[in-house]
Amino acid sequence: MMTTRELKMLQREVTLLRADGKYKETINKGMDLLEIGKELKDPKSQLVALLNIAACYYSIGAIGEAFESIDNYQKICYKFGDSEDYLQLYNVLFLLYEYHKDYERAIETLEKSKDLALKLKKYNIASNAYSNLSHVFMEKGNFAGALKMANAGLEMAKFHEPESPLLEFRVKLNIAKALIGTKALDKSIEMIEQMVKEPVLEANPREMAQCYMLYGEWYAANGKTADSLHFFEKAKDIVEGYSDHYLLKSILEEMIRLSEVKRDYERGFYFQKEYISLLKDINEQELSKKALKLDLKYRLYETEKRANTDSLTGIFNREYIENKVDDWLKSGSSVVCIVFDIDDFKKINDNYGHLFGDEVIRNTAKACNSLIEKEELFGRYGGDEFVILMKESTLEKGREKAKYIQQTLEHLLEEKAGTALTLRTSFGVSSSRQGSAKTFKELFHLADQALYKAKMNGKNQIMYESQ
Ligand code: GH3
Ligand code: MG
Repeated sequence: MMTTRELKMLQREVTLLRADGKYKETINKGMDLLEIGKELKDPKSQLVALLNIAACYYSIGAIGEAFESIDNYQKICYKFGDSEDYLQLYNVLFLLYEYHKDYERAIETLEKSKDLALKLKKYNIASNAYSNLSHVFMEKGNFAGALKMANAGLEMAKFHEPESPLLEFRVKLNIAKALIGTKALDKSIEMIEQMVKEPVLEANPREMAQCYMLYGEWYAANGKTADSLHFFEKAKDIVEGYSDHYLLKSILEEMIRLSEVKRDYERGFYFQKEYISLLKDINEQELSKKALKLDLKYRLYETEKRANTDSLTGIFNREYIENKVDDWLKSGSSVVCIVFDIDDFKKINDNYGHLFGDEVIRNTAKACNSLIEKEELFGRYGGDEFVILMKESTLEKGREKAKYIQQTLEHLLEEKAGTALTLRTSFGVSSSRQGSAKTFKELFHLADQALYKAKMNGKNQIMYESQ
């Protein structure tokens, strides 16, 4: 059992791993934290785990998995979450919607984030939300709307304490860009000239490059292609200095376009070569992400499989069958339940050893599994007791199945050299259509009672409920 302190430490570890960009480690540790959180019924641990898992999946492009984790996060958040948890939720949700270019939902999420942040007086978050709203509006080609949002974002940034020039600067980038989009060219250049002098740029190359890009966009909007190219070139130099593949990509795309406008095919060709080599780099990165994604999928599959199967035989365990069959019954299907148990299995253990006993259980599972058809479930209930469930079936079909399995198993051990063993089994069969069973437990109980009668009656036979 984990102490509260240890649990807090594990939460911290998961958060730090993600901050370090260690996606795989974050997800693995996050899953451990999630399991422990479930066991201890601690919502905070589950929230921390799911949020970090979702963010990592997003970062490696496993968007489906990211949505799934955030969906589970949401469920817990609705029940137990505080405002902080909600803000985190909106943060990740926005990224996912934006990725899918689902702008309506992205905007909806940003609105919620902004409102909550304002209520909590978290002006940096409100400002970021406005910034993102501005960005989404621009993607949609609505520059007037984008301008309005960016201006509101600047207001919010100014409320933030302590003052954050970088926060303000990031919103200003959106304002200037939106101004170019609305063709307010005088206003925009005035702003850009101011921005490029700001001291905050000294320590922030990305924002510096974005500033030069704004110049480039401004000159392009004025039809001055050569000047525009000059500034994109400056932006490119900076970005290459700290290797920002995605910003570099959009700079090169613009440079190729501008070279074509200028009919400067030689430079255009040169940029294209660079662009292709960049795409190769990005592709390699994406490939390694894909490999990571596969690796993680496998782990997910493994955990799920482990939770659903019996470790000795590899067939389904009791929990899995119970859940599945309860779903069948809830949806109104009629279900037949067959339970069987090896006769005098203790003697096999006593006479041939426990390991041989294990082998018999494994072989029984294997032989029976090969007789299971679609719409049927087979699992180990425990010990030497197995269970088969048949969807939309009848007692008569259940009887045939039981007989067939019994006959097959009888010969199971004959092939084993040196053992003249006949494997005998007793069966109990029940049907949900017959009685009043509404759950797996009730249905199983009826079959188990029949099995008990078969044992009492001398074993090696099949009995039915209410027989
Ligand atoms: P019955 O004919 O009434 O079924 O008697 P039985 O000897 O088969 O005994 P019962 O079904 O009541 O108990 C099953 C025994 O199987 C009890 C336990 O010692 C043994 N057993 C349970 N699980 C395992 C296992 O995983 N491996 C082995 N080798 N033995 C097991
Ligand atoms: Mg037995």
